[in-house]
Amino acid sequence: MISDSPNTILETLECSFLKWRDFSLNDRILVLKDIREKLLKNKHDYAHAITTDMNKPIKLALAEVEKCAYLCDYYIENAAKFLENQEIKTGFSKSYITFRPLGVLLGVMPWNFPFWQVFRFVVPSLLTGNVFVVKHASNVPLSAKALENVFNVDTINFPIYKDLFIKSSEVANVISNPIIKAVSLTGSEHAGKSVAETAGKHLKKCVLELGGSNAFIVLNDADLNYAAEKAVSARMQNAGQSCIASKRFLIHEDVYSQFVDLFKQKLSSLIFGDKYDETVTFGAMAREDLAIELENQLERSVAKGATIIAGGKRNGAFFEPTIVTNVSVDMPVFAEETFGPVAAIMPFKTIDEAIELSNKSNYGLGASIFTDNPQQLDNYLHLFDEGALFINEMVVSDPHLPFGGIKNSGYGRELSHFALYEFANIQTVVVK
Ligand code: NAP
Repeated sequence: MISDSPNTILETLECSFLKWRDFSLNDRILVLKDIREKLLKNKHDYAHAITTDMNKPIKLALAEVEKCAYLCDYYIENAAKFLENQEIKTGFSKSYITFRPLGVLLGVMPWNFPFWQVFRFVVPSLLTGNVFVVKHASNVPLSAKALENVFNVDTINFPIYKDLFIKSSEVANVISNPIIKAVSLTGSEHAGKSVAETAGKHLKKCVLELGGSNAFIVLNDADLNYAAEKAVSARMQNAGQSCIASKRFLIHEDVYSQFVDLFKQKLSSLIFGDKYDETVTFGAMAREDLAIELENQLERSVAKGATIIAGGKRNGAFFEPTIVTNVSVDMPVFAEETFGPVAAIMPFKTIDEAIELSNKSNYGLGASIFTDNPQQLDNYLHLFDEGALFINEMVVSDPHLPFGGIKNSGYGRELSHFALYEFANIQTVVVK
């Protein structure tokens, strides 16, 4: 089968937009309900596509698909409230704010959560009345096809979402097309800079969800057993391939040895095995070249004096859950984003020092702080350069809460009511 050219796809979506923007919000919500139903009906097939594409164990792939349905539930319930016109008292007889769509949006999406990343970009802006073309990461073609299938339901007879099977070198050309009104990229800093440059040149808005190197801070009054359990999930989930994974572990010197021992012990809770086995929780990385890159970051850190106290070995794309101590701020495991299962641990003496270390990163996506007395942090939270702070919890994405970073982690927000306004024309209407 010959697939349509990118230009033909854009023209098709431009026609779709003219129809979709005339739908009432209620009718768009009905379509979203159909999308949600289709998603859940076929969830095992979709999870299988994710697992085959990028090695995520099937149990986690299924959880990813179910989380997308939960996101739909949130917007089905709340969109009407978030998008209703807002009357403003002025000197005019009437004035209000209304939310209009922009048109055809381009998504440039990563492979690590192939469904979740796309859903959280598309669903809120779909309800505002936009339509979508999406360039997926090249290593998740089955997920890409499945997504096009799920977003185009039988109850409407025109497409509101189409895949663009193009190379990353062709993205700039698509952004420059007048049909594209704005772009959202989730991916690396490198890709973010390239997309932002082209979007800037053509005066198009972009949202960038880029890398992260979250700190996981344990104070000396924390419940260490609980913190160590969370540390395993925060670093090892999705084989460490998550932007919001905790990558740098900063532990108060009083509890350092005890925490390190517990962290190491609790790695045994991870279950390895066949990626299609429903009990498996830890699998291979998405591609061998990514595991080799991680190995290289580890080797360069060891050459500077780091000590591997757990794991450290690679077999093809499989990388053992790894813990590294004797870490300093100039080592790759601290200074760069490690996009795989390697935890770098450092001790600290005071909260001020922990915050200084936490901020010593080009990224600013989030940080976690574990303590028995959260109140003691009240005078410190404003010192963190982060998009999110989670106390006694790992950083997670939740539809109710805005998600996004500062510094080199990007700009703009997904999820919550903020997501509905990122790709909206926030229009002022006045009657004298
Ligand atoms: P990536 O290599 O940057 O790829 C992301 C997407 O951008 C892919 O579709 C890729 O296409 C495309 N791309 C790559 N270079 C490009 C360029 N120069 N111009 C235009 N498009 C380009 O990232 P990844 O390896 O898929 O994902 C891992 C990164 O994403 C990590 O840094 C992670 O932290 C970040 N991430 C951030 C968030 C967040 O919400 N902040 C969430 C998930 C992941 P090809 O596959 O064809 O190269």
